[in-house]
Amino acid sequence: MDPIAFIGLGQMGSRMAPHLVRAGRQVVAFDLASTAMDQARQLGCRPAASAAEAVRGAGAVISMLPSGADVRRLYGDDVFAHVPKDALLIDCSTIDVDSARAVAAEAEAKGLRFADAPVSGGAHGAADGTLTFMVGCRETDFPDIEAVLKPMGRRVVRAGDAGAGQAAKICNNMILGISMIGVCEAFALAERLGLDPQRFHDIASTSSGQCWSVTTNSPWPGTLPNAPSNRGYQGGFITSLMLKDLKLAQDAAARNGASTPLGGHAEAMFALFDRLGYGGRDFSAILQLLRGRLDELDDPGPTPVGA
Ligand code: NAD
Repeated sequence: MDPIAFIGLGQMGSRMAPHLVRAGRQVVAFDLASTAMDQARQLGCRPAASAAEAVRGAGAVISMLPSGADVRRLYGDDVFAHVPKDALLIDCSTIDVDSARAVAAEAEAKGLRFADAPVSGGAHGAADGTLTFMVGCRETDFPDIEAVLKPMGRRVVRAGDAGAGQAAKICNNMILGISMIGVCEAFALAERLGLDPQRFHDIASTSSGQCWSVTTNSPWPGTLPNAPSNRGYQGGFITSLMLKDLKLAQDAAARNGASTPLGGHAEAMFALFDRLGYGGRDFSAILQLLRGRLDELDDPGPTPVGA
């Protein structure tokens, strides 16, 4: 399926494409930003002057762009007109379900194979090659899609037909946004009740409150060695991206008649936190808003437990 056209080499794409290069694939890269193009060249990708040039002659196309509008524009303006008929088209961006289904329908009408394949795992997962891809595609197309994505991830899962990957992604992240706030509220209450945060963390980790926000991304500094809370909430899953995913979930809920009141609360809380200027911090930093201790985020780093 070589060459692979990779379009959008920002935070995620620039960490994903090198795994394809290391797996021996020819990667042709295009990004609107010249800095991203310079970096792509250094990563072993062949630069293209435009998206149309990148996809011409490609066996597969992978896109990793900010929004549904970007994805619709890319495929509508450049990809469909220039890509070979047997190429496999895979969009890994996180976008709204309707845009993913619209692009898939247009691809199908043109006799092209398209999949939505958003990822879980963030920039670290992209760098380590441990992403999970949630794929929406025809069942018969899945083996080829899995083969293209495998070098960049630990798991490639088919969620269902067109749009199902995006649906799985936003539903999963709605759980995550809500559960993180729940964990932060519990830590804030535990503090007021005089509980030692480490002891509470250890109990919740092995009790019915246990979840990813406790066992992998604990918001209380010092309770878990590798969590972003130990590094001033830098370098994790940033608040502005959590907010983006919660907005996508609420839009989808409104359009499809689902009742998601806690998802709505979570969106409003992360919107406030973002507006206060903390959009670039790991989303677990919302703990400090709930504790009434935003000052801890303005210091060089929150004080770890026991220090
Ligand atoms: P980013 O803004 O760092 O990168 C996007 C890149 O796309 C930029 O370099 C931009 O110049 C380029 N671009 C935009 N429109 C283009 C076009 N028409 N043609 C070519 N290049 C174009 O974003 P990111 O953090 O890499 O995220 C990409 C996608 O992955 C988003 O949909 C995001 O929601 C999703 N995602 C991000 C993370 C994360 O932790 N960063 C985690 C999971 C999913």
